[in-house]
Amino acid sequence: MKKIVTKFGGSSLANAAQFAKVKEIILLDPARRYVVPSAPGKRFDGDDKVTDLLYRCHRQAMEGESIAETFGKIRARYQEIVDELKLTVDITPELDEVEAQIAAGATADYCASRGEYLNGILLANYLGWRFLDAAKGICFDEEGRFDADKTNTIMSALLCDDMPAVVPGFYGAKPNREIHTFSRGGSDITGAIVARAVKADMYENWTDVSGFLMADPRVVEAPREIASITYSELRELSYMGASVLHADAMFPVQRAGIPTNIRNTNNPNHPGTMIAVHQPHDESHPTITGIAGRKGFSTINVEKAMMNSELGFGRKVLQVIEEEGLSFEHMPTGIDTLCVVVESKELQPKRDEIVRRIVELTGADTISIHENLSVIATVGRGMVNNCGTAARLFSAMSRAGINVRMIDQGSSELSIIVGVDDDDFETTIRAIYREFVG
Ligand code: ASP
Repeated sequence: MKKIVTKFGGSSLANAAQFAKVKEIILLDPARRYVVPSAPGKRFDGDDKVTDLLYRCHRQAMEGESIAETFGKIRARYQEIVDELKLTVDITPELDEVEAQIAAGATADYCASRGEYLNGILLANYLGWRFLDAAKGICFDEEGRFDADKTNTIMSALLCDDMPAVVPGFYGAKPNREIHTFSRGGSDITGAIVARAVKADMYENWTDVSGFLMADPRVVEAPREIASITYSELRELSYMGASVLHADAMFPVQRAGIPTNIRNTNNPNHPGTMIAVHQPHDESHPTITGIAGRKGFSTINVEKAMMNSELGFGRKVLQVIEEEGLSFEHMPTGIDTLCVVVESKELQPKRDEIVRRIVELTGADTISIHENLSVIATVGRGMVNNCGTAARLFSAMSRAGINVRMIDQGSSELSIIVGVDDDDFETTIRAIYREFVG
């Protein structure tokens, strides 16, 4: 029988009315048998997310302040859902226990995780399904690193009876049973883990937007929606700043070959964005799939005559960068020049030391640092075997009067990356979008 894992984000479960929409969606397809809920999110602009309130309670408890008022808000959120939906579960003892634990100095991770835990209990009761505490199946090691293989073995066993289940997102436990959370937005990861464990046919991620857009709507007016995208394309776009799905939520499903469908709880008839390992050829799919970028990079430019024939030159430069604890983003090279792109905020405090050490180790003729670089990725599986894409992109930039400071095309041919002045960031994205999309 077909299996779908559905994950619902915080805004999808923010109040009783949203719970009702979620139930309707779940019941519409009998294959939707595993649900991963987030904690209740914002109901309106300016509202609090329950997770934020829980972190606030934790801070207050740590500072010896009373948590009564903040916890009162949390209590009211859950109680209102119970009352409005006329749920049969008595959530008061659970709430009392959580409040007592927080007041007694429970860890930040424990506090934050209760948002999903309590919401999971309510949703399971509302659906009449079993509740499976994620602490039983999502495993971290002693240092808090996620243990994918152990988790998959345990989760598969826990869910092997094919009975529908609600598994709260965002947290799991260390071997000593201490609660540990993923980073913010981590319920997406739990959903992907459950999808892998039950060998789902599909991972549906229900949120409050109808999928990904081809560009940031704050930069491009009303950008087109992305109907289909591959995991590799999405990885390039999210790395560059596009967000909807937690970046770590791709690995479990991509590895298992399970597609992810981003859907909108408030517009359930919209097909959303389909993410898959491979996408079938589609004439209507544009040459580019999306554009994303980030400001705030610097380039370290190293020059040395005859560099290209000197063995180990690049290694020495990267050795300094590594030993100074920086990660580099790109490294375009010329014949006698090498350029390393790093984040400005990481470089700033170590700048002089890095320059000094590179000169010392490599005997470089000159080193210069240029700041205020934006890196923009134009991503598209359609670019492979499609000659002229780069020419179109650079012509569009040139017509818009933009000076290209760096070019990098990965060997995957999935993306063309350009570096421009921070001041040209928006103009560049708009120029590329106009050229390929209109
Ligand atoms: N509730 C957590 C957060 O706000 C996790 C999630 O919603 O995915 O980050």
